[in-house]
Amino acid sequence: MANSFDEECDYLFKAILIGDSAVGKSNLLSRFAKDEFSLDSKPTIGVEFAYRNIRVGGKLIKAQIWDTAGQERFRAITSSYYRGALGALLVYDVTRRSTFESLRRWLKELREFGSPEMVVVLVGNKSDLEGSRVVKLEDGRSLAQLEQVSFMETSAKDNLNVEDAFIEMITRIYEITSHKKG
Ligand code: GDP
Repeated sequence: MANSFDEECDYLFKAILIGDSAVGKSNLLSRFAKDEFSLDSKPTIGVEFAYRNIRVGGKLIKAQIWDTAGQERFRAITSSYYRGALGALLVYDVTRRSTFESLRRWLKELREFGSPEMVVVLVGNKSDLEGSRVVKLEDGRSLAQLEQVSFMETSAKDNLNVEDAFIEMITRIYEITSHKKG
């Protein structure tokens, strides 16, 4: 099974999920790691992580992805949360403007605690809720361009682009890491 801990891998990467509470971080991760979606909102307490093995360029990569919805309430964990992380999915909810406005603060935190080379993918989640959308696709795209990060809209509920968002992040981490190794 792909999630086996014993399986030999060529690379082990740590990546993190960040963004406001209830934007869908836990569900994005469970979609990616277990192909599950939950309708209950269970605020994550502390930190959880999941593994998934994927093949990129013929190499087996084990991605260890950390999730915390409790970031705002557990500030003490911030530096250990970021430590060693090579990538981040920065998530907002396309139906809640405040979660988009918070991105500025998250980006600041990323620069403060993250490594300078960290791969960031901006993710506008809940794209299935088109009728309640308040953040335009174009708004996400412009911010991503400005910040020079990748961008994707996803739906953890309908499983749209979720795989693509994680794979984009993992592939870019791989490119940077393998390049460094020579
Ligand atoms: P977190 O706090 O950022 O980890 O958010 P959760 O993953 O716990 O999700 C918060 C709420 O949003 C839950 O009720 C989820 O069912 C819901 N949710 C998450 N992703 C989506 C999505 O893509 N579409 C819709 N319609 N709801 C979602």
